[in-house]
Amino acid sequence: MSTIPNCPICIKYDERKIFDYDIQIKCKRCGDYKLLKFIDTNYLKDLNGLQRANLSGWIRENQRESITAEDIENHKDIFTPSISEKADKLLIYLSKKYPIPGQDILSTNEIYSAKIHQKKFLGVTWSQNLDELKFILGEYLSKEKQFINEIRSATEPLKITPKGWAYLDSLRKINLDSQIGFIAMWFDPRLDSVFKAIEKGIENAQYRPERIDKKEHNNRIDDEIMASIKKSRFVVSDFTGNRGGVYFEAGYALGLGIEVIWLVREKALHRVHFDNRQYNFITWKCEKENDLNVLSRNLQHRIERTIGIGSYKRKDTE
Ligand SMILES: [Zn+2]
Repeated sequence: MSTIPNCPICIKYDERKIFDYDIQIKCKRCGDYKLLKFIDTNYLKDLNGLQRANLSGWIRENQRESITAEDIENHKDIFTPSISEKADKLLIYLSKKYPIPGQDILSTNEIYSAKIHQKKFLGVTWSQNLDELKFILGEYLSKEKQFINEIRSATEPLKITPKGWAYLDSLRKINLDSQIGFIAMWFDPRLDSVFKAIEKGIENAQYRPERIDKKEHNNRIDDEIMASIKKSRFVVSDFTGNRGGVYFEAGYALGLGIEVIWLVREKALHRVHFDNRQYNFITWKCEKENDLNVLSRNLQHRIERTIGIGSYKRKDTE
């Protein structure tokens, strides 16, 4: 193991270095991480700016033991967060770092300075460059949303506004500490293998899958289901079979501000009710042997990207 000064994810790769062992990296932008026995150095060299920005943000938020080649492959083309998601990341970061209302935050001079904090804030916001960071902070959070006070000069310290704190409060209500991933789907025996694949995807993202199906035959959404959704971190909704209960449960979760992950069998996507097609569905197939492994993996990556890795450990691995 050796320590190198340059981060191969967010900075241009130095071709002269040959890594054939674990590399410990301390990066102001990506955080502290380890690349596990990374052999294909050309591979990292070819990443483009957007892939670097997304990988860097992902690594910063999901500090693992080691980053593997598979992690890089799986996450280099992950969905780029929207501008409001990036702004949320920044506002949440600032509120944790400067938790006292009224407290002075850094000035934009300090945040944007390449010598001081720029790299860290590029990482926090998954930004590709300084212009994007300036847009998120100056145009979006300050001017448009007024969650940060007006930036009058580059040396004046920023503050989170009362409006910003109220917005942060509204974000906190959505079970950020919960380790439960609720599964809403049609409980038909023909979908048992699909259920198992969904369960595996949730577990691999380190959450506890939960489903309540014993009262399905009553054809009513009972208090038990609502209570379970209420305490979940997210809901995985599979719309295959177009069950009314699944629509209800997804809508109930959305109303509570709980993240919903949308699933449907590829062949059945066109049958999903129109209003739901605007959402970014994970479609799955069940024809070849490996198809359901693909579903598990796609679901795991979607959870990791949109919600982050959980901390629930399965009993059999303890
Ligand atoms: Zn880095």
